[in-house]
Amino acid sequence: AFEVFAAWRPAANTAIGISQAAAADPSPDKVDLSVGAYRTEEGRELILGAVREAQRRLEADPATNHEYLGHGGNPRFCRLAAELALGAGSAALAEGRVASIQGVSGTGSLWVGAAFLSRYYRRSRVALLSAPSWPLHDLMMERAGLELRRYRYYDETTRGLDYEGMLEDLRAAPQGTILVLQGCGHNPTGVDPTPQQWQGILAAAQERQLFVFMDNAYQGFVCDLEEDAAAVRLFVDAGLELLVAQSFSKSMGLYGERVGALHLVAASADVARGAEAALQELIVPMYATPPKYGAAIATTILADPQLRQQWQRELAELPGSMLRRRQQLYDALQEVGVPGSWEHILKQRGMFSYTGLTEAQCGHLMERWHVYLTPDGRISLTGLTGPRCRYVAEAFKDAIL
Ligand code: PMP
Repeated sequence: AFEVFAAWRPAANTAIGISQAAAADPSPDKVDLSVGAYRTEEGRELILGAVREAQRRLEADPATNHEYLGHGGNPRFCRLAAELALGAGSAALAEGRVASIQGVSGTGSLWVGAAFLSRYYRRSRVALLSAPSWPLHDLMMERAGLELRRYRYYDETTRGLDYEGMLEDLRAAPQGTILVLQGCGHNPTGVDPTPQQWQGILAAAQERQLFVFMDNAYQGFVCDLEEDAAAVRLFVDAGLELLVAQSFSKSMGLYGERVGALHLVAASADVARGAEAALQELIVPMYATPPKYGAAIATTILADPQLRQQWQRELAELPGSMLRRRQQLYDALQEVGVPGSWEHILKQRGMFSYTGLTEAQCGHLMERWHVYLTPDGRISLTGLTGPRCRYVAEAFKDAIL
């Protein structure tokens, strides 16, 4: 029945696929810039002290067990996650207008959101995505049976935001179109709107009554927990109904534990209550209940003021470290004399930079230099260590010349 698979090979062009290829490469020269997880400036995985302490407490707690969670996950986690995303003083939360479920991290939360829209959103079948967007956004919206369209976002010439183009495209969208936005640390471009530009995006969304699906996987990873939540809160506080997908992969370094949430900010408490039940019904045939352990870690941290402070202190170190690595790479590119302007590496924000390297150049970097990156030219700054910047710069020069 499945002869077709005899000629299939595993897809090797996803970030995780490329990162696994890098891990399997025995070359001592290799540099993995495809990695979607934080690495220290010494190139090591990071387990936050707050996470270790939460694990210790869970281990010591006689109430810890391995029973099932409900379909919507850990309710305390959901509430704390919603407060983190929307703000503890959020009017929408106080009014009971937020339906939340624990998802299988950000990806799983997005997928439940896409399935929810596909099944229950009646005003449009069109999902508008940034050009470019995180490839999984494309894949999910399409698999959920929605029609993909693009709004202009990344400007090749400035390597920044095509704000005018974006607004034009939003204003030209049919009423009620689903608008997928990233709240901060845009993947793959590292280009975010300014607070003022967000105001313009909100106005366009209101004008066309777009339904906003906000992916905010990098809260706390770009500037800080408050500033990185500003875009989400702007839309919520303006009274829009929207979906927000959240991830603790980056902010707590819980990648493999799959900790995230999906929040529907609804027009009324009654709608939120029913929608939460509908979300749970969608989850039943997918995986019935989400994993428990990671959410217990996140809950332990978020619920304890002292542990939460420790986490925030540790998290606050990470954006600065990524900025330092931007500067180190930029300096190395200058020293080595790599042709072209590289200012964008300094200007782009978060974990990623969109280098502007072509697919062929990326291929050359991987084959000749063992420097791994996604074929769209995206690099993760966390894959860089100071001493390897010069090697990477030399590799870039060779690929470009
Ligand atoms: N959204 C975006 C834009 C991302 O970059 C990622 C992580 N690569 C996610 C969501 C979800 O990650 P996770 O499933 O690990 O939470």
